[in-house]
Amino acid sequence: METLDYDFNLPDLVSKISNLNPKSIILQFPDGFKLFSIAIADYLKNYLKDVKIYISAESTWGGCDIAIEEAKMLGAELIVHFGHTPYSLAEYKSILEKVPVIYVPGKFKKELSKSSLISLLFELNKIGASKPALVSTIQHVDALKQIRDFLNERGISATIPKSPLMEEGQIVGCDYSPLINEKNYDSVVVVSGGYFHAFGAGLMTMKPTIKIDPYTDKVENVTENVKKILKKRYATMERSKSAEVWGIIIGTRTGQYRPITIRALESLIKNKGKKYYLFFSKSLTINELRNIDQPKIDAYVVTSCPRIPIDDISEKEFEKPVLTPGEAFMVLKGELERYRLL
Ligand code: SF4
Repeated sequence: METLDYDFNLPDLVSKISNLNPKSIILQFPDGFKLFSIAIADYLKNYLKDVKIYISAESTWGGCDIAIEEAKMLGAELIVHFGHTPYSLAEYKSILEKVPVIYVPGKFKKELSKSSLISLLFELNKIGASKPALVSTIQHVDALKQIRDFLNERGISATIPKSPLMEEGQIVGCDYSPLINEKNYDSVVVVSGGYFHAFGAGLMTMKPTIKIDPYTDKVENVTENVKKILKKRYATMERSKSAEVWGIIIGTRTGQYRPITIRALESLIKNKGKKYYLFFSKSLTINELRNIDQPKIDAYVVTSCPRIPIDDISEKEFEKPVLTPGEAFMVLKGELERYRLL
């Protein structure tokens, strides 16, 4: 079957599903992979004739969002989650024991073009970087070795950092632990489609950050963009310092429910003699935030996806400070030096 440039290893998936012998299953795809959903369902049906297949129509952005409640409601005995790996920062792990989950990352099969590698070398030389750390989303981790070999042959000492819960060089939008654990690098190279992961890597390391796009071959130094974002985030944190009443917004997607983080925030706010209200929601848009907002609340902290306050809520649209948990910890503990997402 045609799944373009991604490797879903479907024969292996068929055998894993067969081993669990479910009567019905859920297929969950990020939006970018939804175009493959019918073809994959047809492929599976060929081999698993008696298995009922449900396809989730909802958006899913990470391994933090597994359709456990939906599987229980539909009576599905297995979830196949495409595009991501198990969420490395899960605090509420027991929910994942309720329905088995098979993760199918879908790695990109194409190599990076020679021209994009030459542009990358040019950008690294331009900023005087000699020890870049190479990272990417799970789809592109195989390209990291190609970059490392290319750069090493040209006298640039590139490394691929790793954290225990992810593949070598893998990052996710809220977990840059490979870059936090590794100390010996002077710049970051991120292989990814959009800017989301490159900006995140830049924010968390504060090092020169270059993005290489495997779909367009474009190579860009995003360091100045990251500095602008960081400046805005520090300005938002500054405005939240005087907040007396906080709204803590709890996420209810599987990995986005963070009971340990929530408890730590509650006790910090309480110990400072301030007040808080607890809200919860599965998703959080600017309209949902406006709907819950009350004059007596001075600032919000979003404990679901830490990228929501940075990427989705602009201060032009909502003027009260809205922080990530890490930012709220920085403000409440008075530890402003090292930027934190979580
Ligand atoms: S950045 Fe947000 S959507 Fe992505 S894995 Fe983290 S919590 Fe989930």
